[in-house]
Amino acid sequence: MSHIAPPAHWRRAKERYRLLGSKCESCGSTFFPPTKVCPKCRRKGKIVQTEFSGKGKIYSYTIIHSAPKMFEKYTPYILALVELEEGPKVMSQIVDCKPEEVKIGLNVEVCFRKLFEQDEEGVISYGFKFRPADDSWKGL
Ligand SMILES: [Zn+2]
Repeated sequence: MSHIAPPAHWRRAKERYRLLGSKCESCGSTFFPPTKVCPKCRRKGKIVQTEFSGKGKIYSYTIIHSAPKMFEKYTPYILALVELEEGPKVMSQIVDCKPEEVKIGLNVEVCFRKLFEQDEEGVISYGFKFRPADDSWKGL
């Protein structure tokens, strides 16, 4: 049983898990997770915080069939390296997509989902995941 009221928690989670990265204003490179130093410009780079659109495409992926105990009930699931529109690549679970439907180049968008539940205390963690950006590729 969860003792967390979903709506309030949901709003906070969304706020907390915006895709915030960083950008080097000197050379235009973007980073996720955010960095403090641009590897290209070093000390000359001016790093600012930036929010990503959350859109990207699948760069590579793997289907996870066996997972640590707390993720067991979610298997098999898709773990993908998503290339964001802005350039950085981020490792994430792909949801709303069957393992046999995933493919490299698939357009995806960020969404906020339950990460896992801890059985003993009913604590639910939310975080970002990615899902197919539209259903047209399914031929619906
Ligand atoms: Zn730079």
